[in-house]
Formats: sequence, structure tokens, C-alpha cells
Amino acid sequence: MKEIRLAQLVPFLDAELRLSDFSEDESANGLQIEGKAIARKAGLAVDACEYVFREASEKKIDFLLVHHGLIWGGLKSVRGVLRQRIKTLLDAEISLYACHLPLDWHPVYGNNAQLLKLLSIKKMGEFGKYHGRNISYWGRTAKEYSLDEFTARIDRVLNTRTSAVSFGRKVRTVGVVSGGGWFAINEAEKYGIDTFLTGEPSHSAYTLAEEMKVNLVFAGHYATETLGVKAVGDMLRKKFGIETEFIDHPTGL
Ligand SMILES: [Zn+2]
Repeated sequence: MKEIRLAQLVPFLDAELRLSDFSEDESANGLQIEGKAIARKAGLAVDACEYVFREASEKKIDFLLVHHGLIWGGLKSVRGVLRQRIKTLLDAEISLYACHLPLDWHPVYGNNAQLLKLLSIKKMGEFGKYHGRNISYWGRTAKEYSLDEFTARIDRVLNTRTSAVSFGRKVRTVGVVSGGGWFAINEAEKYGIDTFLTGEPSHSAYTLAEEMKVNLVFAGHYATETLGVKAVGDMLRKKFGIETEFIDHPTGL
């Protein structure tokens, strides 16, 4: 079985995932909890939480890479839920590596690049400005869809239940922001977007979309953010030959 030193894996990922380009991110991206010095099996998950940590421990995972980590905006105390989560990781000697905004944006492994690929949307340019940087893309579908055809396709490829609000447009030019990306509706006119796809439903997006005549599509925060960590897992398996496993903990939200 192949293995890799943590001291080699961490700087490789920091560079490959371009962490230094996102210094404004509230997430403390990179290695958050240090576990074993050698990693033989990598786990991939969306959320750093007790369920995922226990599964990782059972599956003999040494290195866990997540999209939503444990440390946000500076750690002030280690109590309650956070104490228990950190204890579970330290007891099992599992390293925790977080990659938030860089893994939304990344042009190869990112949630949004992967979403575009899965939905056969041709990438046209960057989109979705957040903390001063674009974290996503807009693009064109290979053919024109009705909104129902488009959402049925999303449900099929992401195994989710999409909710949508139609403002009468066919689907051809799509702006995409995985997770909680409703703020990007403000950019729809600038790029001539007819359909805006994000994860979480947002009341705030409705009247803007109504007045811009842009369809809203909400495919689930979790469902739109499983793709990035999975793509990183595939890369780690190919590059280093280590075993990898995705830990699924869907929230349905
Ligand atoms: Zn998210």
C-alpha cells in the first residue's frame, strides 16, 4: 500500500489548490489539525463534523480533506461541540485539511468547474465576486433547455431535488455559484445570464431575479459542494497511489 508523509502532502496541496490566492477567506484554509506523520488513506467530505470524523476513524482514514473546516475567523476557545470534534480527531490521530473558497473557484478541481463539466456548460468567464475575488464561472449550455428539462438534468447528475423559480426564460446562459451563492444574482445582467444556479434557496434573490427576468435554480448547498473534494480525492489517488474514500453525509439542504 502506498503512503505519503504529511510534511510532503500539505505543502503540495497548499500550492496545487492555490490557497495563498484567497487570504481573505474566513476559513483557515490548509492543515487545521495535525494527525499522523504518515498518510495511507485520505478521506474526502463536505463538512467537518462528528459524524464524518467517526466514519473516518472507522474507515482508518489518516488524512481528511473537507470543504467546510472547523476553524473560521480565528479560534477563541475550544469548548462544547468544537471540543468534542477536535477530541475525536486527536484521539484517532486524523489530520484535518480545509479548503473553502479556493475549492469553489479552482479551475480544475473546484466545485463550480466540476458542476459546469457535469452539466455540459461551456465555461465562458469568471463570475460570483465574493470578498473581492470571483469564486465561480458563467457559461453556455450546448443547447437550449426548458427550465424543467434543465432542473431534471441537475437532479439526475447530482442526485438532488432542485427547486426553481421561473421568470419565463429558456436556459442557455447560466451563472453558477455552489453553496450559498445567492449574492451573485447581482451580476446576472452584466453577463447576460438567463438562469442562475446556486445551492441554497434565498428569499433575497427573488425580487432581483424577477426584475432582471432571470430564472432561479437552487440545487442544494451540500449537493453542489460534493464535487470539489471528490475531484481532489481522484487527483490524490492518481498522483500518489494512496487509497481514498468519500464520506457522504447529505443534509438535503
Ligand atoms: Zn459551502
